Amino acid sequence: MTFPAYITTSWDDGHPLDHRVAALLSKYRLEGTFYVPATTSDRPTMSAKQLRELSKSFEIGAHTLNHVDLTSVTTETASREIADSKSWIEDSTGVRCECFCPPIGRYRKEHVHMVQRAGYIGLRTVELLAIDFPRSLAGLLHIPTTVQAFPHRRAALARNVIKRMAFGNLWRYIRHGRTADWPALAESLLSQVVARGGVFHLWGHSWELEELDQWQRLESVLRLMGQFARQAPAVSNGQLCRLPMPPVAASGQTVPAAEAAAAGGRR
Ligand SMILES: [Zn+2]
Repeated sequence: MTFPAYITTSWDDGHPLDHRVAALLSKYRLEGTFYVPATTSDRPTMSAKQLRELSKSFEIGAHTLNHVDLTSVTTETASREIADSKSWIEDSTGVRCECFCPPIGRYRKEHVHMVQRAGYIGLRTVELLAIDFPRSLAGLLHIPTTVQAFPHRRAALARNVIKRMAFGNLWRYIRHGRTADWPALAESLLSQVVARGGVFHLWGHSWELEELDQWQRLESVLRLMGQFARQAPAVSNGQLCRLPMPPVAASGQTVPAAEAAAAGGRR
């Protein structure tokens, strides 16, 4: 049985260099969601004009107003940051803002309820190595990610998987995560999604691509993703949330037990 396959990307923090990511996405006919805060304490964010320009071609998601760690502020502040960032983006762009991404990937259950009550439909997490469609939890679609455009150490990948105790991700870590080379990991997981279905979700930060000199590597991965447009259409995070979900999650969860056991034996 073949499952549907999709490609999406997301980019956090609203740095002015996001325009460079946007240009590459357009070049390879890919989609992306840019999670933009109004301000961050340690980096510049794009101007109102740049944000409006970006919103003409790409979805803009909320990332709180001031890029706050939701778990380190009061309930009132968290609630305000979540709700007001939605209206700030809608006022700035004139477009409905449907997706939210908690800064630094940190949030608690109470924040999920706040995000849902504020009227968002999707919450992007920093769960890595996932190729699942968004999962509905507490009335909100949680959107996991597959690969970060960042040279993680293998130990960091393993920590991300172990923290969540996600069997499918653990399997993919065993099978694909041996390399610390993120373009190779992306190629490997993208091939799996195209062949077996699921969602390939690349995410990152433009400022980090600049600091770590990753632009060429990003372009090579986006070029490859663009080549699969027919088998795996490109969608924004919001469009992904609006797709009819397949009856069975098209992910590594369906890995035959014998295959999994063999992988365990090789460890
Ligand atoms: Zn951020």
